[in-house]
Amino acid sequence: MGREENKNHILKSLLEIDPNKDYFYNKIKYHLHSKNSDDIYSAPVNPLYFQPIDIKHSIVLEENVYDALETIDQYNIKHKKEVPFILYGYETKGGAIVFDDIYCNFDKLKEASATFEKLDDFLYLRMQVFLEDNMTNKVICLGHTHPFTGKISYNYSIADLCCHLFYLSYNIFYDQSYNNKVFSLMKSISRDYNFIYYDLNTETFRKVTKVYLKKKKKEYILLDSYKNCDN
Ligand SMILES: [Zn+2]
Repeated sequence: MGREENKNHILKSLLEIDPNKDYFYNKIKYHLHSKNSDDIYSAPVNPLYFQPIDIKHSIVLEENVYDALETIDQYNIKHKKEVPFILYGYETKGGAIVFDDIYCNFDKLKEASATFEKLDDFLYLRMQVFLEDNMTNKVICLGHTHPFTGKISYNYSIADLCCHLFYLSYNIFYDQSYNNKVFSLMKSISRDYNFIYYDLNTETFRKVTKVYLKKKKKEYILLDSYKNCDN
Protein backbone atom coordinates (compact mmCIF):
# COMPACT_ATOMS: atom_id res chain seq x y z
CA MET A 1 0.00 0.00 0.00
CA GLY A 2 1.19 3.49 -0.80
CA ARG A 3 1.39 6.33 1.68
CA GLU A 4 -1.80 7.99 0.39
CA GLU A 5 -3.71 4.72 0.68
CA ASN A 6 -2.42 4.12 4.22
CA LYS A 7 -3.39 7.64 5.19
CA ASN A 8 -6.94 7.14 3.91
CA HIS A 9 -7.14 3.85 5.78
CA ILE A 10 -6.02 5.58 9.01
CA LEU A 11 -8.48 8.44 8.60
CA LYS A 12 -11.29 5.91 8.10
CA SER A 13 -10.20 4.05 11.25
CA LEU A 14 -9.92 7.21 13.40
CA LEU A 15 -12.86 9.21 12.06
CA GLU A 16 -15.41 6.51 11.19
CA ILE A 17 -14.69 3.30 13.11
CA ASP A 18 -13.03 4.27 16.40
CA PRO A 19 -15.47 4.82 19.34
CA ASN A 20 -13.62 8.10 20.09
CA LYS A 21 -14.00 9.35 16.51
CA ASP A 22 -15.42 12.74 17.61
CA TYR A 23 -12.39 13.38 19.77
CA PHE A 24 -10.02 12.43 16.96
CA TYR A 25 -11.88 14.63 14.48
CA ASN A 26 -11.62 17.67 16.75
CA LYS A 27 -7.94 17.07 17.23
CA ILE A 28 -7.05 16.88 13.53
CA LYS A 29 -9.71 19.03 11.85
CA TYR A 30 -7.38 21.95 11.12
CA HIS A 31 -4.87 19.65 9.45
CA LEU A 32 -7.67 17.87 7.62
CA HIS A 33 -9.03 21.06 6.07
CA SER A 34 -5.67 22.71 5.45
CA LYS A 35 -4.96 24.05 1.96
CA ASN A 36 -1.72 22.09 1.96
CA SER A 37 -2.74 18.44 1.62
CA ASP A 38 0.57 17.28 3.16
CA ASP A 39 -0.35 18.94 6.48
CA ILE A 40 -2.47 15.95 7.42
CA TYR A 41 0.66 13.83 7.92
CA SER A 42 1.76 16.01 10.83
CA ALA A 43 -1.66 15.93 12.52
CA PRO A 44 -1.45 14.82 16.18
CA VAL A 45 -3.03 11.57 17.39
CA ASN A 46 -3.26 11.10 21.14
CA PRO A 47 -2.84 7.37 21.90
CA LEU A 48 -4.60 7.75 25.27
CA TYR A 49 -7.91 7.71 23.36
CA PHE A 50 -7.33 4.40 21.60
CA GLN A 51 -9.24 1.39 22.89
CA PRO A 52 -7.11 -0.95 25.02
CA ILE A 53 -5.63 -4.09 23.50
CA ASP A 54 -6.73 -7.42 25.03
CA ILE A 55 -5.38 -7.45 28.60
CA LYS A 56 -3.47 -10.71 27.96
CA HIS A 57 -1.11 -8.73 25.72
CA SER A 58 0.79 -6.89 28.41
CA ILE A 59 4.31 -5.85 27.45
CA VAL A 60 7.40 -6.92 29.36
CA LEU A 61 10.76 -5.18 28.87
CA GLU A 62 13.90 -7.06 29.81
CA GLU A 63 16.33 -4.94 31.80
CA ASN A 64 18.80 -4.48 28.91
CA VAL A 65 16.01 -3.07 26.72
CA TYR A 66 14.74 -0.80 29.49
CA ASP A 67 18.23 0.55 30.18
CA ALA A 68 18.82 1.26 26.49
CA LEU A 69 15.48 3.09 26.26
CA GLU A 70 16.47 5.22 29.26
CA THR A 71 19.68 6.20 27.46
CA ILE A 72 17.67 7.07 24.34
CA ASP A 73 15.21 9.13 26.45
CA GLN A 74 18.04 11.09 28.01
CA TYR A 75 19.56 11.81 24.61
CA ASN A 76 16.19 12.98 23.30
CA ILE A 77 15.62 15.30 26.25
CA LYS A 78 19.14 16.72 26.25
CA HIS A 79 19.83 17.03 22.51
CA LYS A 80 16.28 17.32 21.14
CA LYS A 81 16.57 14.89 18.25
CA GLU A 82 14.41 12.22 16.71
CA VAL A 83 16.22 8.97 17.48
CA PRO A 84 15.06 5.84 15.61
CA PHE A 85 15.27 2.40 17.22
CA ILE A 86 13.74 -1.05 16.91
CA LEU A 87 12.76 -3.62 19.56
CA TYR A 88 12.78 -7.38 19.02
CA GLY A 89 10.81 -9.93 20.99
CA TYR A 90 8.31 -12.73 21.12
CA GLU A 91 4.86 -13.60 22.42
CA THR A 92 4.55 -16.02 25.35
CA LYS A 93 1.96 -18.82 25.40
CA GLY A 94 -0.17 -16.65 27.71
CA GLY A 95 -0.07 -13.73 25.24
CA ALA A 96 2.43 -11.43 26.98
CA ILE A 97 4.78 -9.61 24.61
CA VAL A 98 8.40 -9.80 25.78
CA PHE A 99 11.02 -7.49 24.25
CA ASP A 100 14.50 -8.81 24.94
CA ASP A 101 16.63 -7.04 22.35
CA ILE A 102 16.95 -3.54 20.91
CA TYR A 103 18.82 -1.99 18.01
CA CYS A 104 19.74 1.67 17.94
CA ASN A 105 22.83 3.43 16.69
CA PHE A 106 24.34 3.48 20.18
CA ASP A 107 27.65 5.01 19.04
CA LYS A 108 25.78 8.10 17.89
CA LEU A 109 24.16 8.46 21.32
CA LYS A 110 27.63 9.33 22.62
CA GLU A 111 27.97 12.44 20.44
CA ALA A 112 25.86 15.54 21.00
CA SER A 113 26.14 16.57 17.35
CA ALA A 114 25.20 13.21 15.78
CA THR A 115 22.80 13.10 12.86
CA PHE A 116 20.44 10.15 12.82
CA GLU A 117 18.96 8.41 9.79
CA LYS A 118 15.42 9.34 8.90
CA LEU A 119 12.96 7.01 10.63
CA ASP A 120 11.63 5.49 7.39
CA ASP A 121 15.12 4.76 6.01
CA PHE A 122 16.33 3.37 9.34
CA LEU A 123 13.40 0.99 9.73
CA TYR A 124 13.35 -0.09 6.10
CA LEU A 125 16.97 -1.20 6.22
CA ARG A 126 16.55 -3.17 9.49
CA MET A 127 13.25 -4.74 8.48
CA GLN A 128 14.56 -6.11 5.17
CA VAL A 129 16.19 -9.14 6.77
CA PHE A 130 12.88 -10.16 8.41
CA LEU A 131 10.88 -9.56 5.27
CA GLU A 132 13.31 -11.54 3.11
CA ASP A 133 13.69 -14.44 5.56
CA ASN A 134 9.91 -14.87 6.00
CA MET A 135 10.39 -14.92 9.77
CA THR A 136 7.75 -16.47 12.03
CA ASN A 137 6.75 -16.16 15.72
CA LYS A 138 8.40 -12.78 16.21
CA VAL A 139 7.28 -9.44 17.60
CA ILE A 140 8.86 -6.27 16.23
CA CYS A 141 8.39 -2.76 17.59
CA LEU A 142 9.04 0.27 15.39
CA GLY A 143 10.45 2.96 17.66
CA HIS A 144 11.41 6.62 17.57
CA THR A 145 11.59 9.62 19.88
CA HIS A 146 9.79 12.96 19.65
CA PRO A 147 11.88 15.83 20.92
CA PHE A 148 10.02 18.68 22.57
CA THR A 149 9.07 20.87 19.61
CA GLY A 150 5.49 21.90 20.27
CA LYS A 151 2.15 20.36 19.34
CA ILE A 152 3.19 16.97 18.10
CA SER A 153 5.67 16.28 20.93
CA TYR A 154 3.47 14.10 23.13
CA ASN A 155 1.40 12.57 20.35
CA TYR A 156 1.87 10.18 17.49
CA SER A 157 1.53 11.79 14.06
CA ILE A 158 -0.55 10.50 11.17
CA ALA A 159 2.81 9.90 9.43
CA ASP A 160 3.84 7.62 12.35
CA LEU A 161 0.64 5.61 11.93
CA CYS A 162 1.25 5.41 8.15
CA CYS A 163 4.67 3.92 8.87
CA HIS A 164 3.03 1.30 11.10
CA LEU A 165 0.48 0.33 8.43
CA PHE A 166 3.21 0.19 5.80
CA TYR A 167 4.82 -2.80 7.57
CA LEU A 168 1.47 -4.40 8.29
CA SER A 169 0.87 -4.61 4.56
CA TYR A 170 3.71 -7.14 4.27
CA ASN A 171 2.59 -10.73 4.20
CA ILE A 172 4.61 -11.80 7.26
CA PHE A 173 2.52 -9.43 9.38
CA TYR A 174 -0.74 -9.40 7.47
CA ASP A 175 -1.05 -13.17 7.06
CA GLN A 176 -1.69 -14.33 10.62
CA SER A 177 -0.37 -17.87 9.94
CA TYR A 178 3.17 -16.41 10.24
CA ASN A 179 2.31 -15.48 13.83
CA ASN A 180 4.26 -12.21 13.78
CA LYS A 181 3.12 -9.01 15.42
CA VAL A 182 4.15 -5.40 14.96
CA PHE A 183 3.91 -2.65 17.59
CA SER A 184 5.07 0.96 17.57
CA LEU A 185 6.58 3.00 20.36
CA MET A 186 7.03 6.77 20.32
CA LYS A 187 9.03 8.06 23.31
CA SER A 188 8.28 11.67 24.22
CA ILE A 189 10.04 13.72 26.88
CA SER A 190 7.39 12.49 29.34
CA ARG A 191 9.19 9.10 29.19
CA ASP A 192 5.83 7.30 29.20
CA TYR A 193 5.72 3.88 27.54
CA ASN A 194 2.91 4.49 25.04
CA PHE A 195 3.01 1.37 22.88
CA ILE A 196 0.42 1.05 20.12
CA TYR A 197 -0.87 -1.84 18.02
CA TYR A 198 -3.19 -2.05 15.03
CA ASP A 199 -5.94 -4.65 15.25
CA LEU A 200 -6.58 -5.98 11.74
CA ASN A 201 -9.92 -7.51 12.75
CA THR A 202 -11.57 -4.34 14.07
CA GLU A 203 -9.41 -1.96 11.97
CA THR A 204 -8.64 0.17 15.00
CA PHE A 205 -5.46 1.23 16.76
CA ARG A 206 -5.05 -0.03 20.31
CA LYS A 207 -3.09 1.11 23.36
CA VAL A 208 -1.19 -1.23 25.68
CA THR A 209 -2.15 -0.36 29.24
CA LYS A 210 0.22 -2.65 31.13
CA VAL A 211 3.95 -2.30 30.50
CA TYR A 212 6.37 -3.93 32.92
CA LEU A 213 10.09 -3.86 33.52
CA LYS A 214 11.32 -7.33 34.39
CA LYS A 215 14.18 -7.18 36.88
CA LYS A 216 16.79 -9.92 37.05
CA LYS A 217 15.19 -11.65 40.05
CA LYS A 218 11.87 -12.01 38.16
CA GLU A 219 10.48 -8.96 39.88
CA TYR A 220 8.00 -7.00 37.70
CA ILE A 221 7.71 -3.21 37.96
CA LEU A 222 4.74 -1.47 36.32
CA LEU A 223 5.94 1.42 34.13
CA ASP A 224 4.06 4.67 33.42
CA SER A 225 1.97 4.75 30.29
CA TYR A 226 -0.37 7.45 28.88
CA LYS A 227 0.15 9.61 31.99
CA ASN A 228 1.37 12.70 30.16
CA CYS A 229 -0.42 12.73 26.84
CA ASP A 230 -1.45 16.06 25.41
CA ASN A 231 -5.05 17.11 24.89
ZN1 LIG B 1 6.82 10.54 15.06
